[in-house]
Order: sequence, then structure tokens, then C-alpha cells
Amino acid sequence: MLIDSHSHLNFEAYKDDLSEVIGRCHQAKMKVINVGAALDTSIKAVEIAQQEKDMYATIGLHPIHVFDEEFDAKVYQKIIDENPEQIVAMGETGFDYFHLWQCLEKGAASIEEAKAKQTEVFGQHVDLAKKNNLPLMVHGRNGKEDITAYQDIYNLLKELGYNKGMVHCYGGSLKEAKKFVELGFHIGFTGIATFDKTGVLEEIIKWIPQDKMIIETDAPYLTPVPHRGKRNEPVFVKNVADKIAQIKSLSVEEVIEITGNNSINLFNLK
Ligand SMILES: [Zn+2]
Repeated sequence: MLIDSHSHLNFEAYKDDLSEVIGRCHQAKMKVINVGAALDTSIKAVEIAQQEKDMYATIGLHPIHVFDEEFDAKVYQKIIDENPEQIVAMGETGFDYFHLWQCLEKGAASIEEAKAKQTEVFGQHVDLAKKNNLPLMVHGRNGKEDITAYQDIYNLLKELGYNKGMVHCYGGSLKEAKKFVELGFHIGFTGIATFDKTGVLEEIIKWIPQDKMIIETDAPYLTPVPHRGKRNEPVFVKNVADKIAQIKSLSVEEVIEITGNNSINLFNLK
């Protein structure tokens, strides 16, 4: 089954035509997981999941927003308690070293303080995931630091002993990908796979065990070829499947079937 395992139909980008975009998802007979990035977008993701068949939600505070608002675990726990059918993961959460400067603008006294806050909030997400037996929707983005965001994510997950989730929009090295898979994590591939010129993603896709690969759009961002320049939307996840099929010498139908089953099992989609 075609599944977009990480999308943001809960974002402003769809405020004018959300029902049309969702209509196209239904037409494609696909499932979509809408990912929260702050309290308001988490609530919106849950609302969409309440109203629409085949739509699911994750709730969490994105690392770039940890200085915009406090993460109140009690509030998030209440949302989980009230919406057990809709909520399929905690996040997105993780480390974003690319946007650390934004944390400085928003009040962090230093890079160290920004990192410490991201670490604290990430840990709170892991606690809730453990408590509610939910997978994690993990976000990582490297900055200019010598230590990559992915190394720090791996170390924290290992230290906290959690092994269930998806490292979304994977942007680390092959070596790091191997460590995440060893730990038990799934790896998410977006439209970047259709236009990446570095060859790194291709190498990772070639290597990845079939039972660990998941496809996603991260819509409205990262629009795949051949739709570059347009706003992204869940139906374009098919283009990510096309690219993976080509790299792994599988049929598109096989990629859709395999990644769909992986997502259904990981997120326990009904
Ligand atoms: Zn996202």
C-alpha cells in the first residue's frame, strides 16, 4: 500500500485547499501520517486524523522550536490518552544542528545551551514514547560541527535504550545508517533521493535491508522530481518509490508493498 509516512498537511501551506489535497490522497487509496512540530500543529494533525479515513498523527516539538515554547509532557500525554486511535508516534524530535543559530536568535545564550535544550526535549519525547509504547519520529540535520547530529542522536537513543522508530529524511552517512538499523530503527527516504547529486543516498538505498526502508514526502517541502518548484503533497511519494525501485532493481509495486508493510507494522496503522 502506498503510504506517506511523514507529511505536514497540518501546516499553513495547505490552509486554502486542504480538502482538495486530502481528496487526492483518498483517490490514490493511500495512508498519510501527518507530523506535529509544535503544540498547535500537533493538535491540527490529530484533528485531521479524527476527521479523515487513512490519516494518522504524530505529536511533538521539533528541535528548531524548543525555544519557541515549552514542551509540557503532561499536555502531550493528555492528547495521547484522548486520541489513542489517531496518534501513531512521538515527534518529530531530535537534533537540528543546521538551525542552531535560530535558537541563538530565540534566546539561547550559547550553542551549548541550544544543544542542551534540544537534548532535554528529545529525552522527554523518548520518555513518552516508552510510556505509551509508541515509535519515535526522529529528525536529524547536520550543521558545521565536527560531531554530526546523527552521531548525537544515535548516542542518545542508545543511552536511553530505545529502538523503535523512524529516522526521517535521512541525511547521515552510510556508516551511521548501519548503526541506526543495527539499533532497530527504520530509515525514511524523501524526494531528496530523486535529485541528490552526492551519491550518498543512492549508496544507502542500495544497501538498506528491505524491511527497514520507509518512504515519505516531508510535504510541503522537498518536492521530488518531476514536480520540483511546486509545493509538495503526499501523492508525490510515488516518485520516491519510483526512484528506490530503480536503485534497488525492484518493481515500483514491490517498493510500495514493502515500504507500506514496514510503515503499517512500525506505526501499527489500522
Ligand atoms: Zn517534517
